[in-house]
Amino acid sequence: MHSKLPRIGTTIFTVMSQMAKDFGAINLSQGFPGFDADPKLLELVAHFTTKGFNQYAPMSGIPELREIMAEKTMRCYGFLPDPVEEITIVSGATEAIFCAITAVVDPGDEVILLEPAYDSYEPAVILSGGIPIHVDLKPGEFSIDWEKVRHAVNFKTKALVINTPHNPSGYVWTEEDLKQLASLVRDRDIYVISDEVYEHITFDGRTHFSLVGHEELREKTFVCGSFGKTFHVTGWKIGYCIAPKDLMAEFRKVHQFVTFSTVTPIQYALAEYLKDAAHYEGVSSFYEKKRDFFFEGLKKTGLEIIPAQGSFFQMAYFGHLSKISDRELAERMTQQLKVACIPVSSFYHDKQDPKFIRFCFAKEEDELEEALNRLQGLSKIL
Ligand code: PMP
Ligand code: GLN
Repeated sequence: MHSKLPRIGTTIFTVMSQMAKDFGAINLSQGFPGFDADPKLLELVAHFTTKGFNQYAPMSGIPELREIMAEKTMRCYGFLPDPVEEITIVSGATEAIFCAITAVVDPGDEVILLEPAYDSYEPAVILSGGIPIHVDLKPGEFSIDWEKVRHAVNFKTKALVINTPHNPSGYVWTEEDLKQLASLVRDRDIYVISDEVYEHITFDGRTHFSLVGHEELREKTFVCGSFGKTFHVTGWKIGYCIAPKDLMAEFRKVHQFVTFSTVTPIQYALAEYLKDAAHYEGVSSFYEKKRDFFFEGLKKTGLEIIPAQGSFFQMAYFGHLSKISDRELAERMTQQLKVACIPVSSFYHDKQDPKFIRFCFAKEEDELEEALNRLQGLSKIL
C-alpha cells in the first residue's frame, strides 16, 4: 500500500522501552516519571469522576481551566491571554503541535525544524504536504546557530518549530535567542510553533522565556504546553495551546476534528489544582536535585557530559570512548548493563550520529543510583 509516511517506523521511545522490558533493564530511555503525581491531584480526579463530570467537555476546554491558565500565563510570563478566544485545552502537546502545523501549512510550504528535534514535528509537516527544512543545532551545547537558521529562511518558509527547554539536549533559550527569532520573522509571514512542554523544568536559576511573554513573537506563535510533564502524569495526555485569536480560530477548526474535546474530569481537577502556584513553581528545584545527583554519578562513567539546563533529560557524549554507533551502544547498554537510554541519532531525519545518548532522570533516587552503579561498567561493553 502507498504510505504517506514511508520513512516513519515505530518511534524510538516505544522501541527502547520495549527493549528495556525484554531485557529487564532500568528504563532511562522514554521520558516519563518513575513516580506518581501529588495525591491531592489524584484525589481531585477521583472526586470529579465520581461526581458525574464524565461527559464531553466544550470543544475549546472547560472555562474554569482556560481562565486559570490565562491567570497562570499572566503570573509566569506577564501576558494575559483571552481565555475565551486564545486558549484551547487539547489531548497532549502532541495534539497541539499537530493542530498548529496542520492549521498553517499548505502543500509546498517550507517548515524549519531545528535538529536534533522531537519526533512528532516532521510527520505533521509531511502530512500537510509541507517540506521540512532541517537546521542543525550547534553540537555540544545544542544552542541555536542563528546564521544557519537565517540562511534557511526564504519566501517559501511558512513556519518554524522551536522547543525550549529542549528535548533531548536540555538547552534553554536565552533572551538573545528570542530577540534573534523576532528579528528573523519580523516583516515576514512566518508562524512559530513553540513547544514549551518543559516550561517548568529549568536549572541553575535559568528563566524560561515563553514566546507568549514576548510582545512581538506572541502575535505569530502557537505556544504548546503539556500538563503531563509538569505534574508527573504523562499518561493523561492533556495539554494546551495559546495563540492570538485569528490563529486560534484556525487551530480550533483542526482540533475539533482531531479529538473534538479533551477528557472532562481531569480538566476540572487541573482547574482546581492550578489555583496553588506552588504546585508548578516547585518543579524546577525538584528536578534540579535529580539532575545534580545523576550528573555527579554519570561523570564517573567516562562519558563526557555538560549539565542539562532544563527538561528531565541528560545527554552524554561517548565519541572519545568508542566508534560504535549510538544505536549499538544503546542496545549493548540495555542488554548487557541493563540500563536503557535513547540514541540521539533518532532525533535527526538523516540519522546522523554525533555520538550522543540521552538519559531520562525523572526517576526515584534509588533507581538512579542503581542505574549509575551499572553504568560504571561502561568500558567493559565498548
Ligand atoms: N514535545 C516534547 C519536546 C516532548 O518531549 C513531549 C513529550 N512526549 C511532547 C512534545 C508531547 O507531550 P504530550 O505527552 O503532552 O503530548
Ligand atoms: N517525550 C518523550 C521522550 O522524549 C516520549 C513520548 C513518547 O513516547 N512519544 O522520551
